[in-house]
Order: sequence, then C-alpha cells, then structure tokens
Amino acid sequence: MVDDPGLRALSEAARLSPDNLPLRRHLAEQLLGKGYLADAEAEFRAALVLAPKDPDIVAGLAEAFVRQSSYGEALSALEPLLAEGGYPPKVGVLAARALLGEGDVHKAAYRYHEAVSRDPSVADADLAGRLVAPPPVVAEPAGPPAGNPPAPSAYMAPSSVTHERSTAEVERSGFSFADVAGMDEVKEALRVKLLLPMQQPELFAAFGKRAGGGVLLYGPPGAGKTHLARAAAGELGAAFVSVGLADILDMYIGSSERNLRATFDLARRHRPCVLFFDEVDALAARRSDMRQTHNRQLVNQFLAELDGVDQNANEGVLVLAATNAPWYIDVAFRRPGRFDQLVFVPPPDADARAAILRILCRDKPLAEVDFGAVAKVTDQFVGADLKGVVDRAVEAKLQESIRAGRPVPLSTRDLLAAAKTARPTSVREWMATARNYVMHANESGAWDDLMPYIQRKW
Ligand code: ADP
Repeated sequence: MVDDPGLRALSEAARLSPDNLPLRRHLAEQLLGKGYLADAEAEFRAALVLAPKDPDIVAGLAEAFVRQSSYGEALSALEPLLAEGGYPPKVGVLAARALLGEGDVHKAAYRYHEAVSRDPSVADADLAGRLVAPPPVVAEPAGPPAGNPPAPSAYMAPSSVTHERSTAEVERSGFSFADVAGMDEVKEALRVKLLLPMQQPELFAAFGKRAGGGVLLYGPPGAGKTHLARAAAGELGAAFVSVGLADILDMYIGSSERNLRATFDLARRHRPCVLFFDEVDALAARRSDMRQTHNRQLVNQFLAELDGVDQNANEGVLVLAATNAPWYIDVAFRRPGRFDQLVFVPPPDADARAAILRILCRDKPLAEVDFGAVAKVTDQFVGADLKGVVDRAVEAKLQESIRAGRPVPLSTRDLLAAAKTARPTSVREWMATARNYVMHANESGAWDDLMPYIQRKW
C-alpha cells in the first residue's frame, strides 16, 4: 500500500478519471520514481491500455519489470518496439539491462552500444562495465543494421579484452549534417568528395571520375570529427562502421590483419557504408616499438584494403579516417586514391559554439536561453567541452527538479554557471604542437586550412 499522501491523492484522482492518460502516466512515473514498483507496473499496464504503443509507457513498464528482476516480462513488453527499429535509445538501454538479467551478454552489449551510439547521454557506466563480452570473436558474420541483434558471434568484445577480435559494429546513424553545427566548409568538402558521387554517379561518370578514395579528418580532440563522420553516414542514408585503430593494433600479432580485412568486408557487405577509422595515427605512431615489422605489415594491409583488389572492391564504401596527430601519418596514406584529401575540423568559433550549444540542448526542457552569451564565455571550448558544460548544467537541474517534483527548465544562468567551473581541454596545446610540426613544412600546401589557426594567438 502506498503510504505517500501525494501519491495517494494522485491515485484517487486517477481512479475517478480512469481515461485521463496524462494523469495515469504521471501517476505511474511518480510511483516508479519513488520505488513502488508493483504499483507502478499496474499503473503502466493501465496506461498502456489507453495508449498501446506509447514508447514512454512501454519503457516505464519495462523499467518496473527490470527493477523487480522480471527480465523476461520486460523483454516481452519491449519486443514490439525493438522489432520496429527507430525506438528511443533509452529503450535500447532497458533492453540491454533485461538481456543482461537473462544472461545474454552479447545481445545486451549490442543493444547497449547501439543505443549509446545514437544518444551518448543514455550511457550508463555501471551497465557498460558489466557488458564486457567473453572473447574471442571476429567480425564474421556481419552484424545486421540496427534493429535486429546480430548472431552472438558477431558481437565484438570491448577493448578491455586483449584477445583476437574485431572492434567493428554496424550502426545506423541517426544524425545528419543538420546535427553538426558550423563547419560549413568542411561539410561542403565532404559533400563533394563523398556524397555527390554516391548520389549522382552519372554526373561523375560523365567526367570520367570514380567515387572512391578516403578523406582524412584532422583537428584537436573533441572538435567533432567522429560526430561529423557519423553525420555523413546519416546524410547519405549509409550504414556506419566505426573502428578504433589503436584497438586493432592491440590485438595479438598476426590476427590484426585478419580483423582489418574482416572490418573492410563488413563494410562492403553493408554498402552503401561509411567506414570510419579513428586514431589512424596509431599505425604510424607505434612504428618505433617492438612490433615494428608487424605494424609495417598492418600498414600495407590497410593500404591494400583501401586500394581494393579490383576497381569495384570498395564501390559504395566511403572511407573516412580521423586523427588528432596528422603529422604522424605515413605519406603512403596520402597518395591519390587513398586519403588524398585532408580536411581540417577546426575548434568552433563563437557562432559555431552557440549553434553547438543549441543542438546539445534541443531535447531538454528550456527556458529562454541566450546561447550567444554562453558562447562568449566558452572561448577555446570544443564540442566535447560544450557537451560537458550542458551535461553538468542538466545534472544540476535534475537535482533541482527532483526536489521541486516537476521539471525545472534550463536557463542561461545554469549554462553560464556550468561553464564557469569548466576548463577547455586542449586546444591551446594542440595548436602549439601543430605549429611545431607544420609551420615550416607546408610546401605542398597540404596544411593550408590549418595555417590561419596556428598563426593566431591562442
Ligand atoms: P572528436 O572525434 O573530434 O574527438 P567528437 O566527434 O567525439 O570529437 O565530439 C565530441 C562531442 O561533441 C560529439 O559527440 C558531439 O556531441 C559534440 N560536437 C562536437 N562538434 C559538434 C558540432 N559541430 N555540432 C554538434 N555537436 C558537436
């Protein structure tokens, strides 16, 4: 029996107007929030009769089940949403918790990572820590696009496992260029290089040009390279396969090449596909270590895969790579048909910061917010830093909302307060390093985009 007077009053109100969906939903959420799990379950069920497919109600019911350790029932409740795809990321996380409760770590990890890739704010460190899958696994056969979990053997264990495995998964990106603030020139460059040849192949063929070759994105950490690559995939309606090259290098000698091949094959089976390599400098940076010969082989393998065994091998596969340290990249990578285009992803200026903040806040309860004012006090903050500011402000607001018992909207003041306690990560240091490497080494003009930035005072 619920002994909270507020909740009892709400229950009574719901009893008197049983068809009032917002009221029932509110009651169910309150019950769940206060830990009356069985009552919450009953209320969510009642609400579900009124709105059978409402994802929030399904999620609430599933959460009530999960917290009562009724994992099978949680999965049954979630099933219709999961089968349809396009469900809210928090539903994926709930499914992961239920699957984990059922002992299916592989599927749980798949659901979890798929959800977090679509919305990093649903990440749950505790859950993620319990999802370390047992080794060894290679990327064969391919995981299907988001929606259906892959066969367990297709799940690639996270990097904390040091056995042979591929780190790749196939994602469907929910982002497009509209989700990337600023960077108009960068987006335009990618459009010409990647998107137009795919969208208008006849035009390119008429000029005797083939789609292909990769683009190397470089810039300070957190400036949005990964976000941009993911958005490019979404813009094109292509699958997205993301690989940390440092992870591939950490595998046992001899198996890395196989994993690299498996990763390219995975992308080829899902064309059109954006194949994204993060930390591509890892291939070069470690060439001085013990595994030098092995790494050389890996570089060669990488280049061979990039070139493709025949003209059509990589048709429909757009290779993007990102690095914070472009000066380490092997010149062989930059030959025509490989990463022949370098694209600088700059730290955002004030306008771009305001636009990034607006994007980061768009699904939050907002009061009137002056994003320009927040942008002004966040000089040198990159996208990742701004995300930290928003997360911090939201966290504070959440506490306040819990105390108030209703959502208290985010205001300019909250964001300014969060910005005040935050420090930008590394743009100044990155520019100083870039200056050292690049200032007197731009004969070919490869660093033209970067030059104005490193000549400026930071
Ligand atoms: P990088 O790959 O360069 O280290 P990320 O792409 O991981 O940086 O960026 C970190 C986060 O910052 C992203 O997940 C995204 O939320 C945010 N972000 C960065 N740049 C932008 C942008 N231009 N527009 C919107 N969000 C951005």
